[in-house]
Amino acid sequence: MIELKNIEKYYANKGVKSYILRHVTTSIKQGEFVSIMGPSGAGKSTLLNILGMLEEPTYGEYHFMGEDVTAMKERQRIELYRNHIGFVFQAYHLIDEMTVAENIEAPLLYKKIPGAERKSRIADILDRFNMVAKKDLFPNQLSGGQQQLVGIARALVAQPSIILADEPTGNLQSAQAEQIMDLFKKLNQEENITILQVTHSEKNAQYGNRILTIEDGVIKEDVTVK
Ligand code: ADP
Ligand code: ADP
Repeated sequence: MIELKNIEKYYANKGVKSYILRHVTTSIKQGEFVSIMGPSGAGKSTLLNILGMLEEPTYGEYHFMGEDVTAMKERQRIELYRNHIGFVFQAYHLIDEMTVAENIEAPLLYKKIPGAERKSRIADILDRFNMVAKKDLFPNQLSGGQQQLVGIARALVAQPSIILADEPTGNLQSAQAEQIMDLFKKLNQEENITILQVTHSEKNAQYGNRILTIEDGVIKEDVTVK
C-alpha cells in the first residue's frame, strides 16, 4: 500500500542542510497497524506528514496504492488524500464554530457526496460512536476524549483505506486513551483499515502489530510483533 524509497527531508539555511529524515526506505501493507516511536525531534511527525501528503519530501520516492505521489500535481495529490487518507491529530483540529455533525460532514462536502448520503453516513457514524445526543454540540462542549472521537469520526466518514494518527491520545487521560486504542484495533481487525500512529506510549504501541523506531531521522528498528 505504501512504498518509501530513500526518502530525505532537509531544510537548507545559507547552504547548510539540516536533515530531518535520511534514507528512509520501508513499505507498509494494507491491513497493518504500525506504531512509529522514537525520541522527541526524531522526525516522526515529519514522516507521518509526508505519508499523509501534508508535507513533501526533499528527495526520494513515495508510492501510495501504486501511484507515484512525488510525481503528482498538487491537485491529484489532494484528490488521492481525500479518497484514501483519514488524518487524526493530537489536538483534534476540529473547527470550533461548527457542530459535531458539521465537523464530521466536512470531508463529505469536499468529496461532493450528495446530501442524502451525507446525512445517512453522518447518522451511521454518530450512532456507532454513541454520539447521537451530541450532534448539535460544539467542540468546546465536549471532553477531550469525545473531541478525539469526533476527529476519528471525521476521518472515517469518508471511508479511508488508511488512518494516520499523530499522538492521537497525547492529550487524553488513560481511560479515554484506551477507548481510542480499542477503537483503532477494532477498525484494523474488523474492517481491515490500515493504521499508522505516532506514539510515545509503549502501551499504545502494543495495540498494533509492528513498531518502527526512528532516531535522528533514520529508521533504527523495525519489529513486527505479531
Ligand atoms: P511538536 O514537537 O509539538 O510537533 P515542534 O515544536 O517540533 O512541534 O514544531 C512546531 C512547528 O514549528 C512545526 O510545524 C514545525 O514546522 C516548526 N518548526 C519546528 N522546528 C523548526 C525550526 N528549527 N525551524 C523552523 N520551523 C520549525
Ligand atoms: P518528532 O515528531 O519526532 O518530535 P518532528 O518531525 O516534529 O519530530 O521534527 C523533527 C525535527 O525537524 C525537529 O528537530 C524540528 O525542530 C525540525 N523541523 C520541523 N519542521 C521544521 C521546519 N519547518 N524547519 C526546520 N526544521 C524543522
